Amino acid sequence: MNPSLPKSNIVIAIDGYSSCGKSTLAKQLASSLKFVFIDTGAMYRAVTLYIIRNHIDLSDIVSVSGALDLININFQNIQGSNTTFLNGENVETEIRSSRVSGLVSEVAAISLVRQKLVAIQRAMGENQNLVMDGRDIGTVVFPDASVKFFITADPIVRAQRRYNEMLSKNQQANLHEVITNLRHRDTIDTTREDSPLQKADDAHLLDNTNLTIEEQFESALDIIRNEVDLSDIYKH
Ligand code: C5P
Repeated sequence: MNPSLPKSNIVIAIDGYSSCGKSTLAKQLASSLKFVFIDTGAMYRAVTLYIIRNHIDLSDIVSVSGALDLININFQNIQGSNTTFLNGENVETEIRSSRVSGLVSEVAAISLVRQKLVAIQRAMGENQNLVMDGRDIGTVVFPDASVKFFITADPIVRAQRRYNEMLSKNQQANLHEVITNLRHRDTIDTTREDSPLQKADDAHLLDNTNLTIEEQFESALDIIRNEVDLSDIYKH
C-alpha cells in the first residue's frame, strides 16, 4: 500500500431481501466496531411518508422532484436507539406502518428518488466508518466497500419474524398481509430498472434461516476481521 495515499474510511455494506435481519446485523456490527450505522431503508420510508402525507402523485415527476427538494432526513440517537427524523420530526414509528410499507418499493423504484438518496448516502461515507444496510449498497452506493454481505432467509421465516416484531411493538399485524407485503416488495426490488436488488459478485452470502442472531453476528465479524485491518482504528 502507498503510505502517501489518504486512508479511506471503512464501509461495511449489507444488502438483502426485506425483513431478513439486515438492520439487526448492521446495528450489532456498528456497535461492536464503533462505526456509524445507516439504515437506508428508513430513508426511502421517510420519503414515502412525505409523499403519502402530501398526496403526491408518483407519476407526476415534477411534483416528486419538488417534494424531494423539501425533504430533509437525518438520524439521531434517542435513548440508545437509531431514530429517523423527517424535517425535524421523529417519524421512526410511522415509517414502519403498513401504509408506508405498502408503497415504499414503488417510491424507491423512481430514479430521481434514488439519485437524491444515493448522493446523501455517499456523502455520509466521506469522513466516517460506516455500516450501511439496504438493497444497492454493495452494487451502487459503495461498489468499493471494504466488506460486503448479501443476506437471505426463507421467505416464510422472514415473514414470521417480521410479524413477531410487529406484535412485540404493539403494532397491528396480520401474518397473511405481512407475507403478501414481503413478496410484493421483493418482486419490485429485484425487478426494477434502476439498481435492482442483486448480490454483488464480491459479497459474502449469508443465509440466516437456521442461524441465531448471535451466530450470524459472529460469522459476519469473523469475515470482517479477516478482510479488514482494524488495528489502526483502535490505537487511540
Ligand atoms: O430496509 P427496508 O425493508 O426498511 O426498506 C424499505 C424499502 O426501501 C425496500 O423494500 C426497498 O424498496 C427500498 N430500499 C431501496 N434501496 C435501499 C434501501 C431500501 O430500494 N438501499
